[in-house]
Amino acid sequence: MWNQIADRISQVTGEKFQVKERRSVSGGCINQGYALIGNGSTYFVKLNQASQVDMFEAEALGLKQMLSTHTIRVPVPICWGVIDRSSYLVMEWLEFGSPTTRAWEQMGRQLAAMHQAGGSAKFGWERNNTIGSTPQINTWTENWADFFAEHRIGYQLQLAKRRGGSLPDYFQVVEVVREHLADRTPKPSLVHGDLWSGNAAVTSAGEPVILDPATYYGDREVDIAMTELFGGFPAAFYRGYNEVFPLEEGYQQRKTLYNLYHILNHFNLFGGGYGSQANRMLQQILSGK
Ligand code: ADP
Repeated sequence: MWNQIADRISQVTGEKFQVKERRSVSGGCINQGYALIGNGSTYFVKLNQASQVDMFEAEALGLKQMLSTHTIRVPVPICWGVIDRSSYLVMEWLEFGSPTTRAWEQMGRQLAAMHQAGGSAKFGWERNNTIGSTPQINTWTENWADFFAEHRIGYQLQLAKRRGGSLPDYFQVVEVVREHLADRTPKPSLVHGDLWSGNAAVTSAGEPVILDPATYYGDREVDIAMTELFGGFPAAFYRGYNEVFPLEEGYQQRKTLYNLYHILNHFNLFGGGYGSQANRMLQQILSGK
């Protein structure tokens, strides 16, 4: 399989790539990661079961979409497909370094520029993708409140019911979410979609990079809200972001709603205490606080 992947890399890049060494890269939540080292060039390869090829294709197309904004660095996807009952995604290899305050500020500015880049009049994307390994529905929708209520919170609630979670009634929640967002009419921004600290890094040359996206056109605040979950980003990041594209009033209230999506997804992926956390957030939202 590795030689076939090397042949595909050669076809796409035009170099004669031969594998000299292969190293396992840890840190991924979903896939197995490898460094594929040749004579002078290295690639990052993700592997999964053949059935996951759509997930890799969506990731590659998301990276391409982000690249097309020329705003923030993301790994360049090289090729993807199925070989020998495995799906694979090959991308540019990046050397990571320790982030400086300057780099975090720059990441904030560059993410703001990506959010300003435009490119769609509607919310959604050209295809569904995944958030973690959960399907993420990106049906084109005119109205942000409808999109977020139905395709983000509503969809995860349906999955949670199937999983046996005791969560409030689907219709009640979807309607309340719709009402909460009724006055929110953002311009559709290309968002990373899964921007927790594990998906943000800085190269050894000090350049900010964002990885492993769940791209779609949405309210830019979803990315900022998620940076505040699971550890948070340094103040320099928000300074840089607000310099270029200041956050609007009401963000603090919407933040809980936007992050509920990720907590519901964590409940669907991992179960456990995320169910009660989602319930607390839902109660807070349903009681209008
Ligand atoms: P998963 O899809 O399994 O969640 P990630 O995209 O999060 O995998 O990658 C797992 C780890 O591999 C990251 O934490 C990072 O350290 C490393 N990594 C990801 N992309 C690259 C890359 N392009 N070059 C080098 N290392 C990478």
